[in-house]
Amino acid sequence: MVHPAASNVYSVFGGEMIVEPLIDGGAGCDVCCWNTPVQDAYTALFADRLKDIDLDGFRLDAGFSVDNCSSLVHKGYGSECGWIDDKGNVQPSKHLFAARRAAQRVYRLFHDPKAQDGRKSGGVCIQHVHGGNRYDPILANMDAVLSVEGAELMMKSLDEFPLDFYRANVMGDQHGYQVVYLPKSRAMGYDSFHGLALLHNFNPRGGYPAAFTKTPTVAPPVRRGNLARTRVDRPVRQGHGVLGLLEKRQALQTSSPHLLSGFQVRRGEKLLLCAMNFTRKPMEGTITIDLKALGFGGKVYAFDPIIKEPVALDGKSLKLTFTPEGFRCVEIASKPFEVFVPEKIGENLIPEADPSKCRTAARLPGGPPANMWTRSRRSN
Ligand SMILES: [Zn+2]
Repeated sequence: MVHPAASNVYSVFGGEMIVEPLIDGGAGCDVCCWNTPVQDAYTALFADRLKDIDLDGFRLDAGFSVDNCSSLVHKGYGSECGWIDDKGNVQPSKHLFAARRAAQRVYRLFHDPKAQDGRKSGGVCIQHVHGGNRYDPILANMDAVLSVEGAELMMKSLDEFPLDFYRANVMGDQHGYQVVYLPKSRAMGYDSFHGLALLHNFNPRGGYPAAFTKTPTVAPPVRRGNLARTRVDRPVRQGHGVLGLLEKRQALQTSSPHLLSGFQVRRGEKLLLCAMNFTRKPMEGTITIDLKALGFGGKVYAFDPIIKEPVALDGKSLKLTFTPEGFRCVEIASKPFEVFVPEKIGENLIPEADPSKCRTAARLPGGPPANMWTRSRRSN
């Protein structure tokens, strides 16, 4: 059977580079096979853009996707397309190794330690992760992957997806890649996705979903920037005390099966905890952590870095309140937290512009902005 092509150029050019039988990739596009010279063309175009516009990296969508192809003439780019079964029929194979070769070649353009001839060292390679490329040989050649259109795209509430779903389908830790995450569900709060990101070690993606998400779980936008900051100093990034999931489960209990929690720890020094309410009702819950087992001996301190308030820690129990499908982030440390306190650090250079005398500044809610004459201090 002849499949109608979306493009009519193949009689002139390129017919040898598309998969057989033809796959409609959508949007008037036919799907190419990586096991063809299209791999050379793709790599060369990236190399050209490095030279003429100094490209810093890329973010691909379908990208290095693997598809079925049964063309017996596709050879030489890492895979063997097509094979003949015991009855003499041609069967398709997946051009996995050709797609890997393409990913490797492009990665090398942006990560060349001896960068010259237009090549780059330290570019950023990001690829959307999906069913067509969820293979370690391919994704090992990415700096990060992006996940926004998984099954959670249709999510109506958090309890539809158990934790295991994220561990098996979304997290990249076990494969060595970092996931940028924020599914485009229209029925979920922005805040809930930030909580999931914290719980599962994703980097939250900003922008798009917030534009149309109108649910009671939406949190004030202030959370976003603060969350990003708290993630920067996550202890696990320092290479200390990475625990297995089972070990974490043994050290942590929550007061309700609908209250889920996880943490990263630098043994005996500091711990970053996320707890999340998986119900659509406000909740008050208790989280118990075996701090002794995690190396904390003496006094410990707890602080919420998002709302910037100390949290009461009774021995090893935290009592927390949650918004519907909301999350809490708590830092625990063996040393007291140094909390930002506005403080004057010198004389004003222009005395008449002193914020206390400036009409505009005085009218601001809460008075003049603290950073007009102070410097932020924070350690721990
Ligand atoms: Zn092929």
